[in-house]
Amino acid sequence: MTAPVATHCPYCALQCGQWVDTAGNVRARAVRTGGGGLCQKGWTAGTLLHHPQRLTTPLMRARRDAPLAAAGWDAALGHVAGRLLALRTEHGPDAVAVFGAGGLTNEKAYLLGKFARVALGTSQIDYNGRFCMSSAAAAGNRAFGVDRGLPFPVSDLDGAQVVVLVGANVAETMPPLMGHLARARLVVVDPRRTPTAERALTGGGLHLGPAPGTDLALALGMLHAAVVDGHVDTGYLAARTTGFDDVWRVAAQWWPERAERVCGVPAADMRAVVALLAAAERRYVLTARGTEQHSRGVDTVSAWINLALALGLPGSPGSGFGTITGQGNGQGGREHGQKADQLPGYRHIADPAARAHVAGVWGVEPDSLPGPGRSATELLAALGRGGGPRALLVFGSNVLVSAPDTGAVAERLAALDLLVVADVFPGETAGAADVVLPVAQWAEEEGTVTNLEGRVLRRRRAVRPPPGVRTDLEVVAGLAGELGVPGFPADPEAVFDELRAASAGGPADYSGVSYSRLDAGEVLHWPCPGDGHPGTPRLFADRFAHPDGRARLVAVDHTGPAEPVDAEYPLYATTGRVLVHYQSGAQTRRVAELAEIAPETVVEVHPDTAARAGLADGEQARVVSRRGAVLARVRYLASMRLDTVFVPFHFGGEGAANLVTNPVLDPVSRMPEFKVCAVRLEPVVEP
Ligand code: SF4
Repeated sequence: MTAPVATHCPYCALQCGQWVDTAGNVRARAVRTGGGGLCQKGWTAGTLLHHPQRLTTPLMRARRDAPLAAAGWDAALGHVAGRLLALRTEHGPDAVAVFGAGGLTNEKAYLLGKFARVALGTSQIDYNGRFCMSSAAAAGNRAFGVDRGLPFPVSDLDGAQVVVLVGANVAETMPPLMGHLARARLVVVDPRRTPTAERALTGGGLHLGPAPGTDLALALGMLHAAVVDGHVDTGYLAARTTGFDDVWRVAAQWWPERAERVCGVPAADMRAVVALLAAAERRYVLTARGTEQHSRGVDTVSAWINLALALGLPGSPGSGFGTITGQGNGQGGREHGQKADQLPGYRHIADPAARAHVAGVWGVEPDSLPGPGRSATELLAALGRGGGPRALLVFGSNVLVSAPDTGAVAERLAALDLLVVADVFPGETAGAADVVLPVAQWAEEEGTVTNLEGRVLRRRRAVRPPPGVRTDLEVVAGLAGELGVPGFPADPEAVFDELRAASAGGPADYSGVSYSRLDAGEVLHWPCPGDGHPGTPRLFADRFAHPDGRARLVAVDHTGPAEPVDAEYPLYATTGRVLVHYQSGAQTRRVAELAEIAPETVVEVHPDTAARAGLADGEQARVVSRRGAVLARVRYLASMRLDTVFVPFHFGGEGAANLVTNPVLDPVSRMPEFKVCAVRLEPVVEP
């Protein structure tokens, strides 16, 4: 056995450090963000490296109704390339689509974007980060002029006196982060009394439990309280922001008692939290998916940013506003071109200067680059019909679990002429594919990811992939070769060096980051524009990224969930994660220790609500919405709101929470409303 290799966890954006050896043993490795700890997911991840369910050979089916059968790589790649060329010839370049992921390394995200635009010539590329960070990204861009989830190092939180966590259940999703919040008084805003809310309450903090879909009204009520109670930092507003007067015209209508009638949070609690924030010297407001996964998610994040700006937090020493990124490379994955509207370096694809720069790096004419394509949900909805794509290549994403209204997604996938899935395990989406390509995973390959604070980290290979498995980069390079398009290296460092050049001068400038600097132990946060540049751990100390250097307060108003409850569907369903599973569960459901703890979909419900539906604790129930029904085991939880049930989204098949979710989209970010839809509960008669 060789010495353990220093790398990072395969899962969330905290990217805790790990030592991994060739046998797949995992130990915690101290890095600044995780503080040297790993959660249960991280320390059991080694199980995946020698897992018996690994895909180790390409699979193909002769016809749609034939079973998948083993095939050679040459045959598989040749078949895929031939079908792509034929579909493109018959229907045009947008007949072929690509779907990426926020878990892919920076190198993969970059090469996938280039592959779509240059080798396929299609505008139809987007990724699952659209389901995750798009509302936070859009709100950050419009307020601050740049989108970096945390514009400060995580370790800055160690000194916080007060932290308001909005829609963030970090005690379950990112447990080591709680160590950075240990000295702070916590305020947790969440419709559920989550383990994070429990920690706040036991530490002398508060839990505010708004009705699902009413966070924006709560934030408006708190801004009103800040103004009326004299807590606004008028000097900061005058010197560093614009837009307050427009914002106040809306917030003036939202006195706390009115907001209380909408969201259910006592007005006294709103005033108390604002006073707490105002009195502290070091204070933060942090949002996450609970705030963002709404049909008005961008406006909701903006409302919390407005409050943070009114109190003078962003860019002030020891204080700030941030959003907590979810997926392992959720930050880097949204910067380098796998997003429908984007080119590397967080450049916009419709910007002529951006197109000219990137086309120059790629050695093509700017006019040859397609324009913006469809967002993830719209892309999936267009598959196999009308002018929509007829072939889809999926990398690192399990859309049959993670996309909203998965019943409809399954129909669209079935209507395709060609579905190709590159994956590590035979997940739900791979099961529907015509061609499955087995690829390497986290500790089997080299690369970089960018964590929640914008720090670029090296993932390193500790174990050789099983025979028959290729890296995603090798798959993309191989397909480009089959298509006869040069310029697609498979070596991670060569791809990263190209990414550096393509990002140079963009908002997310990586040109000064290199494998050699990272391997020498340098801590580099973007922007890092040049070899000698030290990186930028803290943004906004002197100016925001808009041309005038000022942050924008944006006037937003409460509208409520797109699908209100009614007599037929009288409950709100909200979805989220549990401690031992990660995203679609494609990895964690295969780890025995984790699957034993959470083996199936549950529906958490107040005992009185369950009793009204005729459901006992532990029984199977159907959670039914206008789109479908999910099978779930009833779990009584006295802390649940009477009007709300919670369903985790880690499971597939009949237990897929997204069978019921509402695919309505935010008008700006195109984020689906995962966090609230109208449902009813029904008993199931078990055989
Ligand atoms: Fe750390 Fe997240 Fe991995 Fe847990 S899942 S060990 S919090 S990176």
